[in-house]
Amino acid sequence: MKEINELTKLTLKSLSEKNLDATPENYEKEFFSLAQKKNFVNDEINELQSVLTNLSKNDKKNLNSITYKEITKILSKRVKDEDLKHFLKHLAYFMIPSLSSEIKTDINNVCTDISKSPNTLIDVDTIRRLRRVTTTRVNDDKRIFNEKNNDVKKLISFLSEFLKKRVDENRITVDEISNIREEIKSLELSESSDKQVSKLYKKLTKLVDRFTLVVDKNSENIANSQDMSDKLYAQIEKLKHNLTKAEEEKSIDFLTKVLTRRAYSLEVEKIEKEYKAFGSNYAIVFLDIDHFKEVNDTYGHICGDSVLATFGSILKKLTRNEDIISRYGGEEFVCLIHYNNILDIRNYVNRVKNIVGNNKFVFNDIKLNINFSAGVALRENYSSYENMIKEADILLYEAKSSGRGKIIFDNREIL
Ligand code: GH3
Ligand code: MG
Ligand code: MG
Repeated sequence: MKEINELTKLTLKSLSEKNLDATPENYEKEFFSLAQKKNFVNDEINELQSVLTNLSKNDKKNLNSITYKEITKILSKRVKDEDLKHFLKHLAYFMIPSLSSEIKTDINNVCTDISKSPNTLIDVDTIRRLRRVTTTRVNDDKRIFNEKNNDVKKLISFLSEFLKKRVDENRITVDEISNIREEIKSLELSESSDKQVSKLYKKLTKLVDRFTLVVDKNSENIANSQDMSDKLYAQIEKLKHNLTKAEEEKSIDFLTKVLTRRAYSLEVEKIEKEYKAFGSNYAIVFLDIDHFKEVNDTYGHICGDSVLATFGSILKKLTRNEDIISRYGGEEFVCLIHYNNILDIRNYVNRVKNIVGNNKFVFNDIKLNINFSAGVALRENYSSYENMIKEADILLYEAKSSGRGKIIFDNREIL
């Protein structure tokens, strides 16, 4: 009791010396300060000491003076266990990794343990556990990020190769696209890519499918173009055919259906070349219908036409394809006949003479006997085609002038 009175006096004196009023706050501050110095102990001081021991080092550093007011300020900032528990409930959520899911269980375990006894939050062991799971979480995230990154690179480089090929070749077949689809399947993405990158992967597959459609469509277009070009080709063929027909019409006499004189001249050029090159022998039979003018005069021009047409068709029927018949003039015909033996020519001319002479030419109800005269010259007997045809013409004239209905060979033989 004496000591406390002494301490009270000392406190008041010290306050007066420091020029401070003896307010309860100043008094308390000065009293506990002096009590510490003087090692004064009483119940109040013991109580204050026990409160101080509950403060952390940091709290103590922040104390301006050891008074209940100062301590209250610090303690009032302290989080209540309840609140801490509430906070700890969410700790796991705060620590959840962004990419990896492997460390989740470890994080949950640490957080559950801390929530059970919140006062262990700042224990060295707890802090170590927290640091360990955090480091693992960060490393896992980094690794997974790299894996995904590599997968994206793989897909992108594949895509660019694919497009490059498309551009370089300027065409791509359906088969090639199926190969590409197979290649995409075998890209072997890492397990981490199960979601986001797989989406990209699917998009790429879809893109390739779209290409397939485009290529299919192109093939269809190509097929259509093919169809179109087939049609065009058919039209061109038809035109060519018509053209040939027109050419033929130009070279074939419309009435008698044998070669025109012009077309005959062209054929003669070829045959002459063959004769000169290979010695393929031939004869000229120069024919002229006898008294044809009378037919016209008696039965009309149309009847005359009909006779000419029939005469032409008889000649055609009796002549082989490799031989040539031409309408040389009005009712004059020239047959160019290849032979091996002179008998072949005689037989040919005989056949024509018999068929024409032994049959009647019919026009409506008119039946006519038609005869002809001819001169026959063999190419081998002349130095040129011109000389040969000249001679054939002379022989024909002879046949006419000697009574008609005759065929005179250049060896003077007469049929
Ligand atoms: P020859 O026995 O001397 O040969 O007497 P020809 O009457 O047969 O001969 P000519 O040369 O005197 O008369 C030929 C006639 O053939 C004259 C011509 O009007 C006729 N003629 C020529 N071309 C045609 C034709 O395309 N159609 C018709 N109907 N007659 C034609
Ligand atoms: Mg005549
Ligand atoms: Mg004539």
